[in-house]
Amino acid sequence: MSEPTITRAEVRRCIDNRGPGLRFPPAVERAFETYRRRHQARVTLATIGPTLLIYNLFLIVDFLLLPQTFLIALVAHLLVVTPAILLAGWLVRREPGLILRESLTATIPLAMVAQILFVYALNSGPSADQYQFLVLPVLIYACVNQRLDFRFAAATTALIVAAYLAVLLPHANTVATQLVGLTIMPCVAYLGIAASYRMEWDTRYAFLRRLQDRLKREEAELAARHDPLTGLANRYALERRIESLQTGLHGSDLSVAALMIDVDHFKAFNDHHGHPEGDACLQRIAGALYARLRNDSDLAVRIGGEEFLVLLHGAGLADAVRISERIRRAVEGFGIRHAERHDHDVVTVSIGAMAGSLARFRVDQLIDGADSALYAAKDAGRNRVWPPFDDADANAPGRTRHAPA
Ligand code: GH3
Ligand code: MG
Ligand code: MG
Repeated sequence: MSEPTITRAEVRRCIDNRGPGLRFPPAVERAFETYRRRHQARVTLATIGPTLLIYNLFLIVDFLLLPQTFLIALVAHLLVVTPAILLAGWLVRREPGLILRESLTATIPLAMVAQILFVYALNSGPSADQYQFLVLPVLIYACVNQRLDFRFAAATTALIVAAYLAVLLPHANTVATQLVGLTIMPCVAYLGIAASYRMEWDTRYAFLRRLQDRLKREEAELAARHDPLTGLANRYALERRIESLQTGLHGSDLSVAALMIDVDHFKAFNDHHGHPEGDACLQRIAGALYARLRNDSDLAVRIGGEEFLVLLHGAGLADAVRISERIRRAVEGFGIRHAERHDHDVVTVSIGAMAGSLARFRVDQLIDGADSALYAAKDAGRNRVWPPFDDADANAPGRTRHAPA
């Protein structure tokens, strides 16, 4: 399942409005559950060994207090409860959904308590009355160590207390045992549930803090790599991309195309229509570039001002010129009125294209080549692609230009 999208403002609101309630709003709750599923699987894996060891050490108590049922206890421990715990642990490791995971986790203490009460019910006398206290550490284990979801911890505790009292009250040898059981067990249950609640509250709060830090980091990273006006990549991101292309991670025979795009007579547009209109125009042009990217490997960059660069992976010059022509037509097709122009009455762009294999050219050579081609497009009259687009020629394979020396 993919992680739900959450904004930093949402997380901030959760932190600011944190009351005694445990639940988050749905999107944050889903993110928490995604985190907890992995965490719970790790906790179960880490604790299953010590849990089994300590639980099976209880057999010493069986041996010393109730030797007459030791064999039964041994069979229940080793052939019933231990395999059940191992199975539950194995299933939890597979990261099932919340209800199944918490139910499986709760099965572990419930199976232990069932075994203890079963052996207790088979015996009578003062030793048996001492034996039943083994339920107490199991209850603490369920509430504290297992890190069950609070609702499941509360339900498991209620079940344990109910089963305990249902066996203890009719079975205890003395009223004193009944009274002690009646007092101690609800007290421990209350303390256990309170601890479970507090731990879950703290875990959830720590989760919110971590999530907030992560989102802050991601936003900063995004801001560092993107131009705030157009949302396109910026120079910093371009440099990172050039580095990664240059280190050869993409294969040295990869052909890369560079398109250098410049808005025609944009100063005049700005001067006449105003800076806000100019900004809106740049945003629309950026949208046209972005729409022509074919996948995540292609990159559209705002180099600065009204100049843009597009890097296309695995594209030859024919593709580059064809895509450039589509961009040029798209911008012209926007029909953004340019009152100061004499040659055209709408905003247009000029585009220079260059392509080549990374085995022969460095990326900066390809970009320089595209820049030179852009000058040629401007010199040839603007609102055009250089080299010129020609459907027949552009479809011909293997058409490449050489970078300037
Ligand atoms: P050419 O056709 O030769 O490219 O002419 P030009 O006027 O487009 O080129 P020039 O470099 O003279 O002017 C670029 C203008 O781009 C200058 C400035 O007014 C405008 N500009 C640069 N950055 C921004 C920006 O972020 N927002 C706005 N609105 N305008 C910008
Ligand atoms: Mg310009
Ligand atoms: Mg310019």
